[in-house]
Amino acid sequence: MSKQLLVVEDSKPIGRVIRQIGEALNYEVTIATTLAEVESILQTKDDFFVATIDYALPDAPNGEAIGCVLSHGIPSVVMTGKMDEATRQQILAQPVVDYIPKENSQAFLYLKRILHWQITNSSTGILVVDDSSAARNYVSQLLKRRNFSVYRANDGVQALERLKQHSDIKLVITDLEMPVMDGIELTNEIRKIYNRDQLSIIGISGADNGMHSARFIKNGADDFLRKPFCPEEFYCRITQNIENLNNIEQIQKAANTDYLTDLPNRRAFFTKAEQLVPQYIKRNMPYCVAMLDIDYFKKVNDTFGHDAGDHVLKVLALYMRKHLGSGLLARLGGEEFAVIMHGTDEDQLYTKLDDLRRDISVSQVSHDEQHIVFTVSMGMVCNSKEALAKQMNQADTALYSAKENGRNQICIFGVDD
Ligand code: GH3
Ligand code: MG
Ligand code: MG
Ligand code: MG
Repeated sequence: MSKQLLVVEDSKPIGRVIRQIGEALNYEVTIATTLAEVESILQTKDDFFVATIDYALPDAPNGEAIGCVLSHGIPSVVMTGKMDEATRQQILAQPVVDYIPKENSQAFLYLKRILHWQITNSSTGILVVDDSSAARNYVSQLLKRRNFSVYRANDGVQALERLKQHSDIKLVITDLEMPVMDGIELTNEIRKIYNRDQLSIIGISGADNGMHSARFIKNGADDFLRKPFCPEEFYCRITQNIENLNNIEQIQKAANTDYLTDLPNRRAFFTKAEQLVPQYIKRNMPYCVAMLDIDYFKKVNDTFGHDAGDHVLKVLALYMRKHLGSGLLARLGGEEFAVIMHGTDEDQLYTKLDDLRRDISVSQVSHDEQHIVFTVSMGMVCNSKEALAKQMNQADTALYSAKENGRNQICIFGVDD
């Protein structure tokens, strides 16, 4: 269900722009142009996910609408044409998500980011570590306003426990002076487990001493805030650190993913396989390494076109996910794929691969009103104690046998060749 956005704005053109922004983000938008209208709407309906509020309205020239909307517990972004310090202070004294001066078109780009974050932030966990409950609550309230998932800890030891329990935590905000384990020690301990691409740390200290920021950073923190801080500065630091992590995550994903099929690529496959295979061997788990290749794929391209060929590759990846979803799957390149998976025994692993093969051979792929039938051949090697590279060669040898024997079949290394 789409989320509800309340837009309080007396200017029709601006209202239209905000409506477009909201709808582009899948919000259902309601517009009110006066405070009276806001009051009447909120009487019957106040389950808005977020609101944007124009500071000055015809019947509420001094931001009166802000208090009205906030009193219904609706997270609110204030848009203002006034830029003076007194107005800014008056707005920031209230628990608003943010305020945006309507200076130019940048304001609307920023609003779009805010409204987007308000939806996505809930998947980001932030851990607040402070021995003072007042400080913990203050920071937690600021984060909740922005819809983050907030966790709390009284000291470093508790913080490490929370981190173990909640894998969605991406950012730790820690006080410096705490009993049991202080912020610097905590930062040190966290960095033994999580690197800076996985988790950000922001140190906080009230002590009026520049040395603390340097100590935090030298011990592995990413940023530092001095108490007391204003919400604006706090939010800027938070979003910058979270966006940084998200960017790194996206870059890493792109570097490890095949753009066409969205499967792990060759590089990701070998990185993960080098960890998996020794574990299977050590624990004596039945497993297999298999290579898969489309039969006469060149003919598919020649007959139906390269786009149709691409579509077949994507469909094959879906079939692999459907039948072998729990295994490590990859597109190694071209029309060649690989699988590593464990199971109950060799027969069961073979059956899984053969079910995939048969399902493909009896299915049709539709593309641009053309119906394409294709088959795959596979080579597998089971329960080998050899190094991964050797096993890949062996699976390839078995795949070659499957092709030689007439395609659309599976050969097992050491059995069928
Ligand atoms: P075999 O049964 O022996 O495997 O025959 P084949 O035609 O499948 O094998 P061959 O290696 O001769 O040809 C593979 C073809 O795959 C050639 C190449 O144009 C095509 N191909 C490789 N990558 C892509 C891709 O990303 N998209 C499309 N559409 N075709 C690709
Ligand atoms: Mg303290
Ligand atoms: Mg082929
Ligand atoms: Mg090939």
